[in-house]
Amino acid sequence: MTITGPDGHWTASAKCGAGGVAPDALFVEGAAQRDARAVCGGCSVRLLCLADALDSRADFGVWGGMTERERRALRRRRPDVESWYDELLGAEPAAPAAAVGT
Ligand code: SF4
Repeated sequence: MTITGPDGHWTASAKCGAGGVAPDALFVEGAAQRDARAVCGGCSVRLLCLADALDSRADFGVWGGMTERERRALRRRRPDVESWYDELLGAEPAAPAAAVGT
């Protein structure tokens, strides 16, 4: 699934892609990720980024304000979630079932 926001693909609005953030700043290891995730504060596409990372099982680096360890823990706590996009951003409402016998 390609996750898009109102202005196209969410990466076009990524705070970390706007300059001022080193390209590898979010791909540090271990405890350094806890500090690195501060970059995500105020990012307008944080939930889209997080949903994409969870749905694609991106297992390295900081995405959506969460460390890789936090994302793994979240997936373990919620193995029932099939679409993190739907879970975090809301699914399209289901079409009403057709009435029987009408
Ligand atoms: S949430 Fe963080 S990693 Fe994701 S686009 Fe925004 S700044 Fe980048």
